[in-house]
Amino acid sequence: MEAEGCRYQFRIALLGDAAVGKTSLLRCYVAGAPGAPEPEAEPEPTVGVDFYRRALQLRAGPRVKLQLWDTAGHERFRCITRSFYRNVVGVLLVFDVTNRKSFEHIRDWHQDVMATQGPDKAIFLLIGHKSDLQSARCVSTQEAQELAASLGVAFMETSARNCCNVELAFDTLADAIQQAL
Ligand code: GDP
Ligand code: MG
Repeated sequence: MEAEGCRYQFRIALLGDAAVGKTSLLRCYVAGAPGAPEPEAEPEPTVGVDFYRRALQLRAGPRVKLQLWDTAGHERFRCITRSFYRNVVGVLLVFDVTNRKSFEHIRDWHQDVMATQGPDKAIFLLIGHKSDLQSARCVSTQEAQELAASLGVAFMETSARNCCNVELAFDTLADAIQQAL
């Protein structure tokens, strides 16, 4: 995991149903890096696997490079290949707080990673995304916290619309990965 200028490189994947906002979350995070170019308007639902990079200063000291993998389109068919999960050390499990089905599918996404990697390999963080849409929400914070507790993972709510908690989500995941090394 040695990376140029950084002590570590962490491979992180974003998983969750189509349209929950994974690409928007990633772009918001990458655009928030110092000196980042202006982001594009609306993300295209592309097919293939995209990845982004961003360097990050961990709370515990070392600077790390994040390699951020996006399931651009395959999630529609739940046909993520095994190679996608290989060497993934962190996973953001993303659902949309206004989409009940996307919440119900979180266990399946979690299970997919566990089945491919074996238990206790990747560090997970559950994300309730689109927290700006409070009036349309149909998954409560409490039930999301209960799901997170039953999976043994942390939980956070984010919005790419107002960039709420986006930095914090990636910081939290990267810190947890480093602590588990
Ligand atoms: P993906 O399929 O999971 O990659 O989802 P996208 O990033 O393509 O987003 C799907 C739709 O949700 C797009 O129309 C986005 O503009 C919208 N979206 C993404 N994040 C947010 C958010 O935080 N709040 C709101 N209100 N809409 C969002
Ligand atoms: Mg996408």
